[in-house]
Amino acid sequence: MFEITLYQVGYCKHPEFMVKRGGSFSSIKFPAMVALIEHEGKNLLFDTGYGKHFFDATAKFPEKLYAITTPVTLEKPLVEMMDKKIDSIFISHFHADHIGGLKDFPDAKLYCSKEAYDIAKGKMSRFSKTKMGVLPALLPDDFEERLTYIEDLPKVDLPDALAPFEKGYLLEDRFYVIELDGHAHGQYGLVVDDTFFVSDAVWDIEAITKGVKPNILTHLIFKDAKVYHETIGKLKELHRHNPTLKMVPTHCSKTHEWYEHV
Ligand SMILES: [Zn+2]
Repeated sequence: MFEITLYQVGYCKHPEFMVKRGGSFSSIKFPAMVALIEHEGKNLLFDTGYGKHFFDATAKFPEKLYAITTPVTLEKPLVEMMDKKIDSIFISHFHADHIGGLKDFPDAKLYCSKEAYDIAKGKMSRFSKTKMGVLPALLPDDFEERLTYIEDLPKVDLPDALAPFEKGYLLEDRFYVIELDGHAHGQYGLVVDDTFFVSDAVWDIEAITKGVKPNILTHLIFKDAKVYHETIGKLKELHRHNPTLKMVPTHCSKTHEWYEHV
């Protein structure tokens, strides 16, 4: 048995039209969601949301550009909202609203993509990394010692219920890990029974269920626009043939209502 609880750990604000074609000018809150998945006495987190370290990491230029273009409010970091011992953390990708709390969980095992980590630790300039939404200062010093690459997990053929996605990885013997390319380098989603955490593959579930077109803005696509839209196409096809699978984008509060949430 397992249980899913969602936490909203900080939010940023953008005018609606920036993320939804035909949207309004009024500012909408985009919460950074974290999922706690409790299974067999173990606690797995899907991402960490924002954290206090975000503000230190963006205090100076060029990283400050991140905080200016994405104004963040954080009332409470996850570690203060939750009194659970976290065994492991699945990092969907390296944007600050997904890894901002990593330093608050010094004992957790970590899973992330090698492609994503190679960018974060690579020789690229601080300015280029900031432009890609990657802040290496958010990574704990012993990150590598606790790390397993997603690409090193057992590779599996996915069940027909997840078509058109065919190949994935198996995490902790029971969860499927699926690549969701385009938004960021090495972005992966996680399937937990009838829930698919799709991270930032879309910002609004209606991009999948109703075909609402996302606006093509560089701040939503840090890697490749063509692939970003191909991934959305696959998620739409998946939804058509498996409508009971619940897809949960990190920033879409409509879907967060489906679960116990804090
Ligand atoms: Zn992102």
